[in-house]
Amino acid sequence: MKARHSILVVEDEPKIRDGLRDFLEFQEFTVTVVDDGLAAERIVDAKRFDLILLDLMLPNISGEQLCRKWRQQGRTTPIIMLTAKGQESERIAGLDMGADDYVTKPFSLEELLARIRAVLRRTDPARCVGQTFSFGPFCVNAQSLKLTCDSAETCITQRQADILQLFAANPGRIISREQLYEKVWHESMDGIETRTVDMHIARLRELLKEAGCKTELIETVRGAGYKYNE
Ligand code: CA
Repeated sequence: MKARHSILVVEDEPKIRDGLRDFLEFQEFTVTVVDDGLAAERIVDAKRFDLILLDLMLPNISGEQLCRKWRQQGRTTPIIMLTAKGQESERIAGLDMGADDYVTKPFSLEELLARIRAVLRRTDPARCVGQTFSFGPFCVNAQSLKLTCDSAETCITQRQADILQLFAANPGRIISREQLYEKVWHESMDGIETRTVDMHIARLRELLKEAGCKTELIETVRGAGYKYNE
């Protein structure tokens, strides 16, 4: 069984907060709720969450300030902002505060759930696809670091397994070099790493070809990044 994802809900409106908690618990997430910015800051310092639902307008410290601060501190926990209709949603769209996504109130719970799942898929590939997953004609085992096609086995490195896992969790989606670097190397990209990513992808393509793949599974999307074609 997959481990439950833990979600922190930061929301000061009791009705929304309680509604979110009930709904998310029903969807089998582990839910923690807090009702102001200061409490959010404290609990994020103390505990690890898989995702944060962050209201924009909060007592003490705003959601925007929190989001910026966490990103400056290098925290990569995915954040979905909850914003009110009107000026806030427009500001959010234009602001690069480091949130992964946002929903505008009033939102439907189904829509929110779809976004939570999408963000978790993108940010937590290991849990999404598991340790054994398919990639094109291959079966990849990220634990034994083996790539199998028919009955031929090829050894891969941990990093290659991590890259394949990220692509497998995001079929058809463009992944930028920055995202790839962050998710696989667990550091934020500093400019020169563009080449590092490209070199790893080039090597991986060669390896897939040698292992018997006839099509290009990892496509280069000019100016944007890479895409896995299932
Ligand atoms: Ca609020």
